[in-house]
Amino acid sequence: MRTIRAFIAINLPSSIRSLLHDTKDELSKQLPARTMRWVPIQNIHLTLKFLGDIQEDRLPSISRELDLVTKDHSPFNLDLGHLGCFPNPKKPRVVWIGIQGETKELMVIQQRIEGSLRRLGWEAESRKFHPHLTLGRVRDSRQLAVIKLPWGHQIHKEGFLVDSITLFESQLQSGGARYLTHYTSKLSSFAK
Ligand code: ATP
Ligand code: MG
Repeated sequence: MRTIRAFIAINLPSSIRSLLHDTKDELSKQLPARTMRWVPIQNIHLTLKFLGDIQEDRLPSISRELDLVTKDHSPFNLDLGHLGCFPNPKKPRVVWIGIQGETKELMVIQQRIEGSLRRLGWEAESRKFHPHLTLGRVRDSRQLAVIKLPWGHQIHKEGFLVDSITLFESQLQSGGARYLTHYTSKLSSFAK
């Protein structure tokens, strides 16, 4: 049986990708060359759950669980939030844009996905869910520690409609990850 690396995420519209592209350009001007390994713009997404390496035959049951969640929720709006990093600005490793807007709805959906996967045998995630869009990863965090990026600033104010949730396969390659869509589950227009 083939093993695949999988995760569940929200895909972004091209208007948002193009703003994230501008953000990346603005930030990279403030940094020495090669400080960051930027995520290719087409790969940026909002991760809800990282599944890791799974047997391919588990995909249909995961897709079914996603459908059980999305049938109860209608499309909702999210907005780009502020610039932040993990673990903290003194030692930034992952640079991201946060998420605002109807985050309560997002949290409920993420919790339901967690619950569904727990029933399928996944271990509960111990870390709190912190919705974000990863822009890049720091190659050398000693270098970035002395550079001030505008942490906490909202760089672009723009919203987007979330109308589906996607089960992705991630193929790790030397040139970066390649994502393949395995299943897209649409939020229901008929949900309350
Ligand atoms: P690369 O690893 O080559 O930098 P990537 O991080 O985009 O590429 P994956 O490592 O396959 O690709 O990760 C897919 C998604 O799951 C990304 O959003 C990543 O941040 C997230 N992710 C990866 N590992 C974990 C983990 N252990 N816990 C939580 N989320 C994770
Ligand atoms: Mg990774």
